[in-house]
Amino acid sequence: MPLLLLDLDNTLLDRAGTFRAWAADFLAEIGAPPEDLQWLLSIDADGLTDRWDVADAIRDRYRLRISSIDLVDELTEGLAERLHLDPLVACALRIADDSGWVPVVVTNGTTRQQDIKIRRTGLDRYVADWVISEDAGVSKPNPRIFAMAAQRVRMRLQGAWVVGDSPEADIGGAAAMGLPSVWLHRGRSWMESRFRPTRTAEGIIPAVATVLAAAGVARYA
Ligand SMILES: [Mg+2]
Repeated sequence: MPLLLLDLDNTLLDRAGTFRAWAADFLAEIGAPPEDLQWLLSIDADGLTDRWDVADAIRDRYRLRISSIDLVDELTEGLAERLHLDPLVACALRIADDSGWVPVVVTNGTTRQQDIKIRRTGLDRYVADWVISEDAGVSKPNPRIFAMAAQRVRMRLQGAWVVGDSPEADIGGAAAMGLPSVWLHRGRSWMESRFRPTRTAEGIIPAVATVLAAAGVARYA
């Protein structure tokens, strides 16, 4: 039974689409022009910018009276409300599980993700367990966080695949452990020369199919 180590944001859950939906609604609500969506997306930088900095940038640009803490709350709640698990992704996880794979989420970020992203979306019913960097005290690409994920489900890392959209955190982590990986390209080209993914896929569903097929070939080779 091999492990399937899965990234969370923009791998299992569409964080980019969720932020875009919230941002469009928010801009409409405050009466900002819809063209400002590109500005807000660039400020968010695909979730890399701290939420407090996003809130401050919004307040400054639109001279809003709302406090930073309320705006951060609105952003957090707004994303949580719009975030959902695609039933087809749930189906892919079920198929992986039925084929003997053990899916475990490995994500960087705050412990709060457990309630908002994993439990609230129902993702917890489709994965064996999860490790969150704030909780673990170590972040991807450090191999220790992946080792902790294996430990959680009492398995070895040997035979595991890593699936994720971050070249550095996900594919770099897999490379550091000598594990095969699938990179979700999201329309980007691979730029890193120090390592590369074993496979590339458009999204999590073809990625799971790729892992199942590649592992099946390896088993009978
Ligand atoms: Mg990601």
